[in-house]
Amino acid sequence: MDKKITVTQPQLPPLDEFTSLLREIWDSKWITNNGSFHRALEQALCDYLKVPYVSLFTNGTLPLITALQALNITGEVITTPYSFVATTHSLWWNGIKPVFVDIDPRTGNIDPERIEAAITLRTTAIMPVHVYGKPCDTERIQAIADKYGLRVIYDAAHAFGVEVNGESILNAGDLSTLSFHATKVYNTIEGGALVMHDAKMKQRIDYLKNFGFAGETEVVAPGINSKMDEIRAAYGLLNLRQVDSAIEARHQVAIRYREALRDVAGITFFDDMPGVRHNYSYFPIFVDAEKYGISRDELYERMKSRGVYGRRYFYPLISEFATYRGLESARPSNLPEAHRMADSVICLPMHHELSEEDIDRIIDLIVK
Ligand SMILES: *Cc1c(COP(=O)(O)O)cnc(C)c1O
Repeated sequence: MDKKITVTQPQLPPLDEFTSLLREIWDSKWITNNGSFHRALEQALCDYLKVPYVSLFTNGTLPLITALQALNITGEVITTPYSFVATTHSLWWNGIKPVFVDIDPRTGNIDPERIEAAITLRTTAIMPVHVYGKPCDTERIQAIADKYGLRVIYDAAHAFGVEVNGESILNAGDLSTLSFHATKVYNTIEGGALVMHDAKMKQRIDYLKNFGFAGETEVVAPGINSKMDEIRAAYGLLNLRQVDSAIEARHQVAIRYREALRDVAGITFFDDMPGVRHNYSYFPIFVDAEKYGISRDELYERMKSRGVYGRRYFYPLISEFATYRGLESARPSNLPEAHRMADSVICLPMHHELSEEDIDRIIDLIVK
């Protein structure tokens, strides 16, 4: 029987080293609440990511919710429908109205040229997403935010390790969020983080993720509980040592895909952007049914029937889900590029252990 080739597989740290760290945690009996592994992973991530401050979280959704709380965001927030639902859900959980703006088809990211038209007197922030780890036009977005006095929170769940001209993309905007879910390029099983620019914000976020406690008897804000525990922090420290080789392996997969698919009529994909260190976390292709001969869904099903499990990320658009469909900004005529991309995308299997044989099998399915 054919083995299944799935879109993402988690990278696991060496088990013997992990068990010895587990022993250390067991012996110390300090299993959560800002322990030594929690602090060590925050520092290691600052160094690796080239950012000044990191606060660890228990997943990648709570940093979004907490960022909105930390900056007192209310009213309306401008965001993209072309993302994972958690982006918009974080607004909903804060009683904020999402306002969807169409994407730039050249990147899949929110189109900065369409942001200003969506700003109202109630707008307080912009929440863009670096989709597939492709950097947003952060300069243009910041210029608009400055002009209107808006905050910018980046959902950088896909952008671990992404740099533009040697600088981390995570330093853009007021805050950036990360996800370390098992399916991401760097994982702590479940986990996430907020990246901030100054010590004061780091302190505020650290309070917020621990119920607002600033001391034994002092609660300074209505916080939540979203701290990462020691076991996953230790796992994360081990996994961090392998992330560069994982990204390099994924880069090689991307090169193979591009070489093989470049001249296939009706199939397009993104090339690297100049000056950008990509993380190759996803490899989306876009199917033009007329030129390719069959539709995206037909290709998707054909792959699936041969044991190749791609993903239609991101389909359906967030604006099509029941919670959001009724919003004025969710009407399809407001989001034509996002609909086109959502209707044509398949993310091909992408991970560090994909063999030459697997890659050839996937390519053969698409080329034929
Ligand atoms: C994965 C993801 C999240 C949520 O992260 P979790 O760790 O699964 O909670 C948020 N936004 C985007 C764009 C994601 O891909």
